[in-house]
Amino acid sequence: MIKLDSITLFLSWKCNFSCAHCGFQCNPERKEKMHLHEAKSYINSVTENQDLKMLAFSGGEPFLYYNEMKELMSYALQRNLVGGIVSNCFWAVDYYTAYETLQELKSLGLREIITSFDDFHAAYVPAQNIAHVIKAASQLGIKTGLNILATKKSRIRQSNASSILGLDLENLVCAQKLWIRESSPLIVGRARESLNIETFSSKDLITYGEKELLYNPCPYVIRNSIITPKGDFYACCGFGDATSLGPSSITYGGNMKKSNFPELFTGVSHNLILNIICLYGPYLLVKLARDLHQDLVIKERYISNCEVCGEIATNKKLHNAVGEVLNKMALQNKEGIN
Ligand code: SF4
Ligand code: SF4
Repeated sequence: MIKLDSITLFLSWKCNFSCAHCGFQCNPERKEKMHLHEAKSYINSVTENQDLKMLAFSGGEPFLYYNEMKELMSYALQRNLVGGIVSNCFWAVDYYTAYETLQELKSLGLREIITSFDDFHAAYVPAQNIAHVIKAASQLGIKTGLNILATKKSRIRQSNASSILGLDLENLVCAQKLWIRESSPLIVGRARESLNIETFSSKDLITYGEKELLYNPCPYVIRNSIITPKGDFYACCGFGDATSLGPSSITYGGNMKKSNFPELFTGVSHNLILNIICLYGPYLLVKLARDLHQDLVIKERYISNCEVCGEIATNKKLHNAVGEVLNKMALQNKEGIN
């Protein structure tokens, strides 16, 4: 069985930025927020899972609730969970502030911080903030993750990020102090509105075909599950649109206020479609569905595995064909057992 590695609490959908590509439509006006007592009760429930190692915080921007985040990180550490944070780093105005802040968080259990560096975020946050965080985290032994959301026309790409930030990123990657992922943004949430208007066009997206996508396992599903401000539980954070009806609703597991965590996690960890995505990647399902129904109309190229999941969730004919594939597999498995 695939084991749980981390749970991310999306503390709110409020963000001090309104990035053009934001899949969750976060902005300063959003009001939805996880209450402190709810977050603590979620932590109590998830720690029943003995495999869980990390409790992370995301949103929205979790530093907008800095004191609560610190209290929750300390609460989780008392239950043997190390901490993770996803932040836009607006707070890292100079190296000293970045270092002091991360040092304090490290004492509360912080082991990884994930941030973004790309044209979309750069409209709001200076590149130097990102550089301060990478440098300070590296000094303190906190791992950094850098997401670069780019199109073919973007000014900031993985290839020139080192020179813009003034850091030797390759060296940090080799020393396993940093990981970097570059991809185009998913066309969900606010990205759907921005596409083809002023921000970016579909022909500029970086996409992949069957050769790259087939047998490309998703490392996150089930292992890195998440809980939204309303208590919705998803088996990954790639769901976008922040709703159980969003494009990757196939990873929706239920609500923490209505069911207990062991029940919800058992549901997703035994889910055949999620297991296939975890072991072989979502494109295998598309291929098997197309082998069954050769008239199925699907896209030739996708931005990422997550877009493939989105298509399985939203393309009704494909969704039904994937259902048929799964039924056949379940039947063959049953016949094999008998
Ligand atoms: S992409 Fe991140 S930083 Fe930008 S609005 Fe969304 S949550 Fe905020
Ligand atoms: S590939 Fe699918 S399951 Fe994996 S993170 Fe993306 S949306 Fe989630």
